[in-house]
Amino acid sequence: MAKVLAIANQKGGVGKTTTAINLSASLTLASKKVLLIDLDPQGNATTGSGIDKHSISPTVYQVLLGQSKINSAIRKSNEGQYDVLPANRNLAGGEVELVDIENRENRLKNALHNLLDKYDYILIDCPPALSLLTVNGFTAADAVMIPMQCEYYALEGLRDLVETIKRIRSSLNSGLKIEGLLRTMYDPRNSLTRQVSDDLEDHFGDKVYRTVIPRNVRLAEAPSHGLPVVAFDASSRGALAYLDLAREVMGHNS
Ligand code: ATP
Ligand code: MG
Repeated sequence: MAKVLAIANQKGGVGKTTTAINLSASLTLASKKVLLIDLDPQGNATTGSGIDKHSISPTVYQVLLGQSKINSAIRKSNEGQYDVLPANRNLAGGEVELVDIENRENRLKNALHNLLDKYDYILIDCPPALSLLTVNGFTAADAVMIPMQCEYYALEGLRDLVETIKRIRSSLNSGLKIEGLLRTMYDPRNSLTRQVSDDLEDHFGDKVYRTVIPRNVRLAEAPSHGLPVVAFDASSRGALAYLDLAREVMGHNS
């Protein structure tokens, strides 16, 4: 039975997509079967997995609107490491169309129903907004993984996100958990970073992953090659950090 993780933070550019791609690849290296769902009209998880977002159809858009079966939309990532349900700009329009559709918050959950036996992990790369797409991600998920940069405003944004998760819990998905908070683009030389990181540990305790993702240029370079960093530069600090994260995530299951 797959564990479904929504990777979410309404703040942009905190490392959601980088985490989605590299955790998918790292779990695959640990012999897990992984589906990565791109739920962002930017389609960055699609491109970063080596899939040309401009030329593909069907995508998650047709699946959410009930125009395609999910199996016909799933592709292999570049080197076949993991499966991808791709997205592109059509999804932005799809979000508007969804508003008038029955069960609009449950579309993704219902689409995944028959796939739960096929995968060990399903990772959902959410867009940088607490929108209907993200609500679909939260409704389909067992837990939320929250990547964040350790800077002052991060804590403020976290309160809104935690409130949203509580609302979803009391309405659409009573079992939704916070899987963990992931410190990304971490620079220990920066004293504010260290302070925010300490505050996070004080507030959230063992909900904060022990693994920290360092700022590492190889992580930023890998997507332009359509590869996860574990394939692009397996010995980089970024690759080693995501392999550690995969081990920590797998440990949460047992
Ligand atoms: P969005 O909110 O737009 O979807 P995001 O939260 O998915 O953004 P990413 O796209 O993963 O964030 O990362 C934002 C930028 O920072 C990208 O250019 C990415 O390559 C870079 N980046 C992410 N993590 C790291 C890191 N650990 N070290 C260096 N660069 C990073
Ligand atoms: Mg993203």
